[in-house]
Amino acid sequence: MTTCTGCSLLCEDIELVLKTGAISEAKNLCRKGQGHFQALFTERTKPMIDGKEVTLDQAIAKAAEILKNARTPLLYGWSNSTLEAQTVGINLAKKIGAFIDDTSSFCEGLLMERILNGKIPTCTLDDVRNFADTSVFWGTDPSNSHPRHLSRFSYYPRGEKRQKSYEEERTCVVVDVRKSATAHLCSNYYFRVPPDGDAEFLESILTVLDGKIPKTGDKKRLIELGTILKKTEFGVIFPGPGMIYSMQDKMDLFEELVARLNEITTFKVIPMVGHYNMRGFNQLMLGQTGFINSVSFRGGAAGAATTHGPEQGVALAAKSSDAALIIGSDPLSALPFGTARALAHIPLIAIDPRRSLTTDAAQVVIPSALSGLEAGGTALRMDGTRISFEPITESERLSDEQILTRIMEAI
Ligand code: SF4
Repeated sequence: MTTCTGCSLLCEDIELVLKTGAISEAKNLCRKGQGHFQALFTERTKPMIDGKEVTLDQAIAKAAEILKNARTPLLYGWSNSTLEAQTVGINLAKKIGAFIDDTSSFCEGLLMERILNGKIPTCTLDDVRNFADTSVFWGTDPSNSHPRHLSRFSYYPRGEKRQKSYEEERTCVVVDVRKSATAHLCSNYYFRVPPDGDAEFLESILTVLDGKIPKTGDKKRLIELGTILKKTEFGVIFPGPGMIYSMQDKMDLFEELVARLNEITTFKVIPMVGHYNMRGFNQLMLGQTGFINSVSFRGGAAGAATTHGPEQGVALAAKSSDAALIIGSDPLSALPFGTARALAHIPLIAIDPRRSLTTDAAQVVIPSALSGLEAGGTALRMDGTRISFEPITESERLSDEQILTRIMEAI
């Protein structure tokens, strides 16, 4: 058995046979996981400085030199690294007085912070399988982003208190701007919201829960949704990036909805984290600094976080940094143009197993083992459950943890 690190479900039941250059047999692997494992064989990086191939030692030495000479270094990525690598990364940030941030500052961070601080109740995915009778997918399409979510945990499986089939005992609600693959599966309870209309939709649900008629939206359907939520025994809301991008500074309203639902029945929340160990980084940072992301260690007492906030996040820090180390992430493809352009104009060190726009633009490229496939370690599943895994294949490449340790030693 092996563990798939293709998404934050971290499926531990994968059976796999690898042949040179391909996967010859796979059991329990979804199509997304298949693509993830296939990454072992495509577009691998080589150690490079200024576009020329060098030895690994030279690339590591150059990375250490850049970081040592930088006044405002930025360390970004982390959500596709093991807890062990993230721990070394946070220590590196402390040592060199860097800004450090992960992908959550651009996606699930606003919600994750409330979950980890205990402001919003949560549960495990095993609780979902055993007890949940209503799952609400809000601004997310797990059929594509987490393809085994419905079959392993939230809709199809039989659980301790959910022995009957999904048609009888589980209700799946989808709130989204478009009729996604998941919305097609749960089409009886698909609720369309206009782009940026989530806050208004949420206010309408609160109105219905208070026994009043909502002023906006399809009143009949909103009352139907209110009835489903009130009749629920154990409900779970799975908010995805679509909902969080739309809500932004109105997340208090979501907290209010969850609190209101819990006055009536039991409702928990699990963020639909994308990368396999984003939650791990957030939890580690919280334990060490009191903040889940976007922290500056610049100029403080040894190892102390000096400031925290959006200006220490990648979006703004990219514009005030004079060098950046990017690990397991492709911000030049994924982040807004202004941030990507700012990053492209400073010396970049990219630690990545595979080629990307960011590695192509980097001054220094350090090839790494694919975390979870060529390097073992531990990670936190989207619900916070700790999962340990072994590498599935041998590799001469160093793990993220080993590379970061060597850079620290060289500094
Ligand atoms: S659902 Fe996610 S973790 Fe599970 S096999 Fe698919 S990609 Fe891998």
